Amino acid sequence: MSNRSDGKPAANRARPEHKLDRRPMAIPRSHIDVILNEPQKPENIGAAARAIANTGLGRLIVVNPRTLNRELMEATATVHAAPILEGMTVAPSLREALNPYRVVVGTTARAGSRRGPLIGPRRLARELLDPIPTALVFGPERMGLSTEDLRLCQKVVRVPTASPDTSSLNLAQAVLIMGYELLMAAGGEPPEPRPIQPASQMAVNLMYDELEDTLTAIGFLPADNPGHWLMNVKKIFNRSLLSKGECDLLMGICRQIRWAVKNLDGLEPKG
Ligand code: SAH
Repeated sequence: MSNRSDGKPAANRARPEHKLDRRPMAIPRSHIDVILNEPQKPENIGAAARAIANTGLGRLIVVNPRTLNRELMEATATVHAAPILEGMTVAPSLREALNPYRVVVGTTARAGSRRGPLIGPRRLARELLDPIPTALVFGPERMGLSTEDLRLCQKVVRVPTASPDTSSLNLAQAVLIMGYELLMAAGGEPPEPRPIQPASQMAVNLMYDELEDTLTAIGFLPADNPGHWLMNVKKIFNRSLLSKGECDLLMGICRQIRWAVKNLDGLEPKG
């Protein structure tokens, strides 16, 4: 083992076991566009663009917006969603905006007998796995989509909330939840972390030898039968399968303890 110039053994640094996974999601969701019907607040348009970028949805279309203040939209979109804002188009009416789509999904906070059967976002996401051009329609902040608007939709989704009194979500948060469910249904969940390769028994037993010597040296284990008492410590480690790196780390800790006992004897502990 290499020693540092101060005589201390080099610390065993735990190395990250996983690299950032940059694999794309299983099924792209870019065939699903977001239409904001008569949005009132540019901040919500920007935040909706960000939700689209976060969840990999398609384009953003706004119908008859009250204002399009660039500065306010860009502030909530942030740089991540700048390309979505760049590609945003403005349509004069909802009916016209819907022309290119094969499937039209409306969203509403309110249930009502005239609003037709509502489904939840999770079920909708399972139904939208095929890459068919689809529009997700969101209503204005104050009033939501009218019954007439909803008549233009083939499916109507309501995100469940804790109680009917709190059923109204912020517009951009509604976009995010829809995008999230669509992403998850398409296999967008991060892959299972790679299982840790357990260390060989040789590495494990070498570490236990080191641990036994160290705990005996500091008087934690009785010198006459340390193996018996070490069993209680081993039980803790045996609950998880230690990797080679973890065994090396524990060996490093033991060596450091023995070095400290030998060299720092009589010194006051710091702090
Ligand atoms: N006050 C309106 C809510 C408008 S919120 C109302 O009571 O209907 C603006 C938009 O966000 C809604 O038109 C809808 O598109 C979306 N939204 C808000 N809450 C939602 C929910 N619980 N489920 C689905 N969409 C929702």
